[in-house]
Amino acid sequence: MSVRVRIAPSPTGNLHIGTARTAVFNWLFARHHGGTFVLRIEDTDFERSRPEYTQNILDGLTWLGLTWDEGPSFQTQRLDLYRQAVQTLLEKGLAYHCFCTEAELEVMRAEQEAKGQAPRYDNRHRNLTAEQQQAFVAEGRQPVIRFRIDDDRTITWNDMVRDQVSWKGSDLGGDMVIARRADFGEIGQPLYNFVVVVDDMDMQITHVIRGEDHVGNTPKQILLYEALGANIPEFAHTPLILSPSGKKLSKRDGVTSIDDFRKMGYVPEAMVNYMTLLGWSAPDAQERFTLPEAAEKFDFERVNKAGAKFDWDKLNWLNSQYLHDMPTDRLTDLLIPYWQNAGYALDTGDRTWLTQLTALLAPSLVRLEDAVAMSRYLFVPTIEYAEAAVIQLKQEGVTPVLQGILSSLDGMGTFTEAEAQTLIQQVVKDLGVKKGLVMKSLRAALTCDLHGPDLIQSWLLLHQHQLDTSRLQEALAIAAA
Ligand code: GLU
Repeated sequence: MSVRVRIAPSPTGNLHIGTARTAVFNWLFARHHGGTFVLRIEDTDFERSRPEYTQNILDGLTWLGLTWDEGPSFQTQRLDLYRQAVQTLLEKGLAYHCFCTEAELEVMRAEQEAKGQAPRYDNRHRNLTAEQQQAFVAEGRQPVIRFRIDDDRTITWNDMVRDQVSWKGSDLGGDMVIARRADFGEIGQPLYNFVVVVDDMDMQITHVIRGEDHVGNTPKQILLYEALGANIPEFAHTPLILSPSGKKLSKRDGVTSIDDFRKMGYVPEAMVNYMTLLGWSAPDAQERFTLPEAAEKFDFERVNKAGAKFDWDKLNWLNSQYLHDMPTDRLTDLLIPYWQNAGYALDTGDRTWLTQLTALLAPSLVRLEDAVAMSRYLFVPTIEYAEAAVIQLKQEGVTPVLQGILSSLDGMGTFTEAEAQTLIQQVVKDLGVKKGLVMKSLRAALTCDLHGPDLIQSWLLLHQHQLDTSRLQEALAIAAA
C-alpha cells in the first residue's frame, strides 16, 4: 500500500505555524515512505473563508519548500460528492432529518445544564414517522440531517503518536449534524466532520496526520467511515505547539503566522528545520538538517505526546546558522528589501558595495531584520552618536588623532584594507599614542558607537560613499566641544 497523506487547511486566516508544522510532518512522512502529499483547501465555512487566505497558505507552503504532489483541491467545488454521500446515509437509514428548532435545542441544553449534565442532543427526532415529518414541514420548519451515533459503542484506535485511544459513543454529544438546515428533500451545506471523511475516502488517504486539537473528532469520523463502508485510515495526532511559558500559542505571543516569521527575517530553511524539531527529534540528536535529510530519519516513534514549547533561542540559533552559511549574493538579495523598507537611500546598481556590506554583516546576523539597525551608520549620513561614543571622543588625546587621520585622508582616493592599516600605523607613530586609542576613537567617530561590525571594513564602505570625512569632522566637533 502506498502512503497518501494530506494537509487540509481552512482558509480562514493566514498560514498558521501549527498548520505549517502539521504540513511539515505530513511532508516528511510522505517523503520518507516515497508516498504522495495532497493539498486540500477546506473552504466549506463560507462566511470565514477568503481567497486571500488561500493564496497566503499556498504561498507560505511554497516558501517553506513543502511541495505537494496533488491539489490544491477545494471543498466548495466538491459539494455534489458530499451531498451524494449524505444521501447514501439517509438511504441506509444511518442518517435522518431532525426538525428541532434552535429554541428547542436551547431549552434542551438549559435543562441538561440545570441537572449538571453535559450538553448533548437527546436524539428525539431519530424515529419520526412520515406523518410527524410532514407536520413539521407544514409548520415551515427546515431540518438538519443527523448521523446516528450508538451510545453503547466504544471507539478505539491505535494512534501513531498517542498509542491506544478510546472514546465512548455516549461522550460524542448525541447524533451529530452532518448537513445544515435546508428545505425537506434538499440537502443543506455538509459540515466539517462529514466532508473530511468523504474527502479522505475519495482521495484514498492512508494516514491522517493532524493536530491534537482534532483528537475529539476522530471517533466521530471513524463511525462515519464505517457507515460509508470505507477503510479506516491510520491516525496520528501531533502535539500542540505551546508558548515558551507552556500555554497554548496565541496571538499574544507575538507571532503565529508564517508570514510574521518571514517578515521578521527568518529564512525558510531555518523555519522548516525548526518546525521539524517542534515535537520530533532525530535519533542521533542532529538538530540542523534540510527537509530531505529530516525525511530520511523521520518516523512517528520519535514524535512526543507532550506539547512542544516554542523555543525562540533555538529558532534564532538555527536562523543565524543558515544566514552565516548562505552565499553572499543570495543574502544580499534577501537584505535589499529590508534596507529599502527602512527608507535607506539604496543604489541597487552599486551591487559590489551592497555585497561587501552583506559580507560584513553576515557573521552577526540573527534575523534579516537585524541588518537594518546594524547598517544604519553606513546608509544615513548623519546619525546620533551613542553616549559611549561621545564619552570616548571626549577622551584626552582624541582630537589630534582625528586630525591626523583627516589630514592623511585629504585627497586620498579609494584605498585597501592594508592601506588603511598603514595609515593607522602612521598616526600611531607620528603622535606617539597607543594603537588602541586610535582604533577606539576611529570606531566612535566613524560608526557613532563603540561596537559593531569590523571597523576597517566599515571604513572602506563609508569611504566609497564619501561619508568618512564628514563623520570624522563631526566627531572632531564633539571631541573639541
Ligand atoms: N481543516 C482542518 C484545520 O484546518 C483540518 C482538518 C483535518 O486535518 O482533518 O484544522
